[in-house]
Amino acid sequence: MIKCVYPGSFDPITSGHLDIICRAAAMFDDVTVAVLVNKNKKPAFTAEQRMDFIRRGTANMPGVKVDSFSGLLVDYMREKRANLVIRGLRAISDFEYEFQMAAMNAKLAKNIETIFLMTDISHSFLSSSMVKELAYHGGDITGLVPDAIKEDVIQLYDR
Ligand code: ADP
Repeated sequence: MIKCVYPGSFDPITSGHLDIICRAAAMFDDVTVAVLVNKNKKPAFTAEQRMDFIRRGTANMPGVKVDSFSGLLVDYMREKRANLVIRGLRAISDFEYEFQMAAMNAKLAKNIETIFLMTDISHSFLSSSMVKELAYHGGDITGLVPDAIKEDVIQLYDR
């Protein structure tokens, strides 16, 4: 039984993330999207908000679970008895960081594999920071985040 975890900041979830979740859910029966709670990062949205956004964005994907974790991903994976990490790749720029992380996780836990999925090319420029930057300046974020959360993202910067 393959149990996968798609970890990330998801601050907030974008259409690129959603694309990866969709692809993972089509391949695997047990997919958990896990929000990393990292006290050193200053997220725009709380872990609860980020989880709520993911739940609303994936409401039409019944098999997808949403959770949060702090600390090492491999410890969380062990606790959940999960064996596959899903990560998304956009462009070459993602590769070096993702390669380092996958190598480190493989060293820490030999039975955990990482697989990389590519989004549709139309999302390959998309990041949570870009969405926040756009929303901050009043730009249109339609299509860049799940429709169900668009207003919440806009509201964050609605002064
Ligand atoms: P992290 O802080 O862990 O990088 P992110 O929420 O930024 O968290 O990203 C989580 C994962 O999703 C990473 O593997 C990242 O490369 C991938 N990702 C982010 N945006 C996109 C996108 N537009 N298309 C495909 N993958 C993406």
